[in-house]
Amino acid sequence: MHPHPIRAAVFDIDGTLAMMDKDSGTYAALPGAVQALTALKARGLPVLAYTNGTFFPPAHYYPLLADAGLVLEPGHIVTPAAVSARQLAKMGVRRLLVIGADGTRVPLREAGIEVALTGEGREVDGVMLGWTKDFGAKDLEEAAQLLWAGKPLYATSIAPHFAGAKGRLLGISGAIAAALHNATGVKAKVFGKPETIGLDDISDMLGIPAAEMVVIGDDPKLEIAMARKGGAFAVGVTTGSVDEAGFLAADPALRAHVVLPGLQTLMTQRWW
Ligand SMILES: [Mg+2]
Repeated sequence: MHPHPIRAAVFDIDGTLAMMDKDSGTYAALPGAVQALTALKARGLPVLAYTNGTFFPPAHYYPLLADAGLVLEPGHIVTPAAVSARQLAKMGVRRLLVIGADGTRVPLREAGIEVALTGEGREVDGVMLGWTKDFGAKDLEEAAQLLWAGKPLYATSIAPHFAGAKGRLLGISGAIAAALHNATGVKAKVFGKPETIGLDDISDMLGIPAAEMVVIGDDPKLEIAMARKGGAFAVGVTTGSVDEAGFLAADPALRAHVVLPGLQTLMTQRWW
């Protein structure tokens, strides 16, 4: 079914491996997730978790997921903020106005990029958006002024929503990007899913081509589209954003190769 051997597995987190309770900030593993990770590791396959969320820096996800029984190896949790930071540093970006919480700020600083907040001066190379609960009119105003002055707009993700324990959660950076686009006409350059930059990053890290990876996720427009664009094997699960019809509605070129009701049946699939 897939013309390449599968040598690594890249899981989405929210709606795929686990569900976050936004009130408590804790994760609960979805059925079959713990068993799937254990079985894959026993087979010697690298297992990565690539979330589109930027609630936390990558380091914060390890204990949160481990508390839910999902143990990932060091370096094997990837966020779009970390992907963005590495790419922006390569592009020569030095200082950014950031509308985003520590999940965005920490990876930027780790990549050597200075983080400026609203009111800290407009000598920046662009505007960066990530998840945050704390933003207001002053932030939007300063960002709009920078975009009107010709600075570029970057975003970890512009996904409209993602799966939470109690239903859909708003994609904050997408909402801010839409507000700024409305004001300025500037579209954000996105680094997270469905762009393939993160998949390429993982491929470089593991030394395994994307064609030899399986990507498993709950959102046809995010990880499934990324997997198909990058040439990976794409597996959809219906435990998060959409049902089976939602996956089948995608353009055939970007559609999941397989749709499963959850991770319980992942390891018995014949395409491994
Ligand atoms: Mg998800």
